[in-house]
Amino acid sequence: LSREPEASVSNMDLIRAGWFSEVSDLWPGQSLSLKVKEVLFHQRSLYQDVLVVDTTNHGKALILDGIIQCTESDEFSYQEMIAFLPLGAHPNPQKVLIVGGGDGGVAREVAKHPAVEQFVQVEIDALVIEQSKKHLPFMAKGFESRKLTLVVGDGFEYMKNHQREFDVIITDSSDPVGPAVNLFTESYFGLLKTALKPNGVICSQAGTLWSDLPHVKQTIRNCQTHFPLVEYAVSSVPTYPNGQIGYLVAALDPDLDLTHARHPLEELGLRYYSPEVHQAAFVLPAHFKKELANLK
Ligand code: SAM
Repeated sequence: LSREPEASVSNMDLIRAGWFSEVSDLWPGQSLSLKVKEVLFHQRSLYQDVLVVDTTNHGKALILDGIIQCTESDEFSYQEMIAFLPLGAHPNPQKVLIVGGGDGGVAREVAKHPAVEQFVQVEIDALVIEQSKKHLPFMAKGFESRKLTLVVGDGFEYMKNHQREFDVIITDSSDPVGPAVNLFTESYFGLLKTALKPNGVICSQAGTLWSDLPHVKQTIRNCQTHFPLVEYAVSSVPTYPNGQIGYLVAALDPDLDLTHARHPLEELGLRYYSPEVHQAAFVLPAHFKKELANLK
């Protein structure tokens, strides 16, 4: 695990003349900027550089190692999709594991699903949890669920000791830098397989097709080593690179249909996810469909 914070990266260096710019080698030659009203928190944790800002048009934002994790204006798209794509495809998701997700937004969504009886969240960085509770309560309210057991630790290590336990495992990871590098590897998908019950479903944050195509392909291949059924879905999130994020959804039962929702969930009052959006999310533009089909 890469646990050493990169001394050269400071989020504060990325704020110039009142604008935060998301500059990263992960999307070379381009960057999204947010106009900053106020810096609410900045500190380097044991694992990463943690910044919370209030912005003029997107509300509060969490930024780790210079990369936007979520903003108040559009986080619901990501949190609802990464939670309800697997929960919606599983026949009866009673026990769920979340890896990462230190802002609490995915916990907020998982807690809403009527079939979920208990869920565990393993987040490596206590500072992210602490500051999200303080500055991002609209997401961190997920931590208040009585169904939740919160563990501060490494998701990779946690799964080594938990076998055939979960119906659904959601990896709400940061991008593959710092502590999250391991969460995209072949051995990680091997651990997901053993931590899942035989009819289990996983969902992982899986980058964007526009600037990360080689990384997306490699992540799919890593997953295919252990899972017979692997699908890729997308949703629109304006403050993520290229305005889009992908989700790798996979199952151990090759006959399970992951692309259709089994539960209507109308009573939950969701803002992005619906059965129609679930189905549409797996329909990729022709070029990307061809690129990903060649892997299988
Ligand atoms: N929605 C965000 C995105 O796609 O950019 C991710 C949100 S969440 C803040 C990501 C979390 O994953 C971070 O809080 C980070 O500390 C956590 N994380 C990274 N590596 C981890 C690991 N090995 N085990 C557990 N949590 C990890």
